[in-house]
Amino acid sequence: MATVAPTDVLAYLEGLGPEDMLKWAFETYGDRAAIQTSFQNTGCVQVEMASRVTPKLRVFTIDTLRLPDETYQLIDDMEKKYGITIERFQPNPQSVKQMVDRHGEYLFFDTKEKQEYCCTIRKVEPNERAMETVDALITGRRRDQSKGRKKLAKAEIVRMETHEVIKLNPLADWTEEDVWAYIRANGIPYNKLYDMEYTSIGCKICTTPTKPWEDKRAGRWRWFNQLDPDSNKECGIHLGGSGI
Ligand code: SF4
Repeated sequence: MATVAPTDVLAYLEGLGPEDMLKWAFETYGDRAAIQTSFQNTGCVQVEMASRVTPKLRVFTIDTLRLPDETYQLIDDMEKKYGITIERFQPNPQSVKQMVDRHGEYLFFDTKEKQEYCCTIRKVEPNERAMETVDALITGRRRDQSKGRKKLAKAEIVRMETHEVIKLNPLADWTEEDVWAYIRANGIPYNKLYDMEYTSIGCKICTTPTKPWEDKRAGRWRWFNQLDPDSNKECGIHLGGSGI
């Protein structure tokens, strides 16, 4: 693959197909590149694609300790199929205890602020720890997933506290149909919640099925929809860059 000047790298990546982008990431960054997945359909596609183009496949997930059983099952299935160990970044037990002691286990029902607090403890902080281990992060975000992701770039530079990370979204311009066609054609394991009308998958309770006419992330924190149908459906992990 041709050497690319840093100033041109984002434009170069924008023109790459998903397999070439994954190959570039692992060849360029080695074990400082990783696929981050919450085991939604795009994540499964990217693990399959990466397994074809690199022997150095690295995958991690943010395990909030509140994931649905179907997601934990899929993690096991993927580890077996690809012969990999998926890294699990979990919340700090002390922080969780402090939060639950003070606000209860189900604080996210109370207010948007408390939901965001829970996401900070269970997702954002473990994610910050995970980000310390990467220079290239591969995500499964797509432009058709929500209004807020319509302008998502395929590659962007995100400034973290300690270093810069190149964030890659190889399937940004794929549609839901493209993803399912690839999964079916290649017999890839997928999250069984999709067979129960889920179109976006996160924590148990905080994610619910959606209707065909709804935004794909409408099932997230559904109890807030009536307050503000356009409310931010990002959990904090992907805030910043072009993804919101
Ligand atoms: S999605 Fe719900 S349970 Fe999961 S971290 Fe956020 S508020 Fe907490």
